[in-house]
Amino acid sequence: MGVVIDASQLYVYEYFYSLQGEGVYSGRAAFFIRLAGCNVGCKWCDSRDSWLRESGKSMSISEIIDVVIESGTKIVVITGGEPMLHNLDAICKELHKIGVRIHLETSGSEIFSGSFDWITLSPKKNKACREEYFMKASELKVVIECVEDFLLAESYASKVDENCTLLMQSEWNAREGIMPKIIDYIKKYTKWGLSLQTHKFIGVE
Ligand code: SF4
Repeated sequence: MGVVIDASQLYVYEYFYSLQGEGVYSGRAAFFIRLAGCNVGCKWCDSRDSWLRESGKSMSISEIIDVVIESGTKIVVITGGEPMLHNLDAICKELHKIGVRIHLETSGSEIFSGSFDWITLSPKKNKACREEYFMKASELKVVIECVEDFLLAESYASKVDENCTLLMQSEWNAREGIMPKIIDYIKKYTKWGLSLQTHKFIGVE
């Protein structure tokens, strides 16, 4: 278990207003709050600079609310890093007061906190996902790097709610080799859909 950080301040690696690139909300405008700190250690991680809590700037909840209001966004995505290394109860309470939807992107490896309108669960091979996350997930997004990952994807899928959207996404650097296999798999097992990292294709954050 990781160290849960004090809820009155959050270590924010970066924040920006952009388009959601992945999953069901792909293409929708959203304000991203990338929290600092991750102890999962995926070898293909493209957010390595955010792994240390110290990589983030300490911000109070009210400072965060101010930048969210200023953006004019209707959706806030709390991501990381692994955002659940922070206690998210207070920030969620304040974000809901200003009427925005709150989306979470998590690996599910830490104790759950906060309250969300949408939860993207993306369990990782090298750190177990806590069981409590599976039934909370709105969408299950499994990163596929090799064919063995299909089995893993099915084991995760067996634990989620029947209304949870099931998505596979190729690991970015392996996409050339694995994408045709993912497409074949989805054609055969149609409960799955494809998630693309569209923000990388269109060159936005
Ligand atoms: Fe990177 Fe996310 Fe894996 Fe953490 S959980 S190492 S931020 S991909």
